[in-house]
Amino acid sequence: MAKANTERKQSPRRQEIRMATTNLDVVGFEDSVVNYPVTGETIDQIAKSMHEHTIAPDGFNFYTLHHHSMFRNARGILFVYQIVVVKPEWNRKGGGAEVEREWDRYVNATIGHENGHVKLFSTAYRRIRELGQVECISDILAFAKRCSDRYDSETDHGRLEGARIGSTINPTDFSELINSLVREIENAT
Ligand SMILES: [Zn+2]
Repeated sequence: MAKANTERKQSPRRQEIRMATTNLDVVGFEDSVVNYPVTGETIDQIAKSMHEHTIAPDGFNFYTLHHHSMFRNARGILFVYQIVVVKPEWNRKGGGAEVEREWDRYVNATIGHENGHVKLFSTAYRRIRELGQVECISDILAFAKRCSDRYDSETDHGRLEGARIGSTINPTDFSELINSLVREIENAT
């Protein structure tokens, strides 16, 4: 009780100084996949089913979400980071070999694209853990977001990597771009 009263008497300025020297615990990293079901016997029907049933933001069929929370704990600040890949799961009914082949190609290409985002965001997490400073968190996350946006703009949200259902383009390999963005995040401050 006495301790709580003392806390309340601190000036806002004093609290700011305490924030700047707070310990950072970085735990609770989670990397998971969430599926939503789709049906259809042709590529067009499956595309329509994804459009109608997607749970991803902005109408995307696939999406990599990243989210963080911060809590005060006994030592300072607890940082929790979560990456979730949202993807469609086709029931593989009635399509036939050709539709199944296209589905597998599409899913592999798109998961490859989403894994690029996962790589960037998980590098940001590791960098935050390495620096161990509360003040770095927002800058590192904002920088990782800019890198992730750049990856989307250079690949046209994966289109150039073949991440569209029914795509007939010759996919381009963007692993060099991802690796250079990872290196930038590894050195971000
Ligand atoms: Zn993307």
